[in-house]
Amino acid sequence: MRAALAEAAAAAAHGDVPIGAVVVDATGAVVASAGNERELTGDPTAHAEVLALRRATAAAGSWRLDGHTLVVTLEPCTMCAGALVLARVERLVYAAEDPKAGAVGSLWDVVRDRRLNHRPEVVREVLADEAGALLRAFFAGHRPGAAGGSAKVVGGGVA
Ligand code: ZN
Repeated sequence: MRAALAEAAAAAAHGDVPIGAVVVDATGAVVASAGNERELTGDPTAHAEVLALRRATAAAGSWRLDGHTLVVTLEPCTMCAGALVLARVERLVYAAEDPKAGAVGSLWDVVRDRRLNHRPEVVREVLADEAGALLRAFFAGHRPGAAGGSAKVVGGGVA
């Protein structure tokens, strides 16, 4: 999660919402990492998780990531939750909950939907405070006056 948080901080440097992801293989080695690049690339699908999955599958030479863990700083959205199911990721670890767009329990629960043929294990709220602080600082900087008063971790429904 530390590596994912570093990717998140790097994303903010180019104006993207600070969300980062890494993919770890069965031995514990980081095989891919990415930050959110939606603003950088103008691509609505350039979420950290999707980019990290693409890099991990390229490195693995296969679309299947059996035995791999995706670590991300924010609860995945519907697209990313769907992508990690499609990639057969074994385990998802995330930090902050996303009450506005989360698809791992907040609004939907895509990764544990019994109608799908693969359901990754989920570990939630790992270093959530740090991930939330990055997001709050980012939105405070972009929306002056909008940061105070809320206990909610995330604004924007952005990734
Ligand atoms: Zn996403």
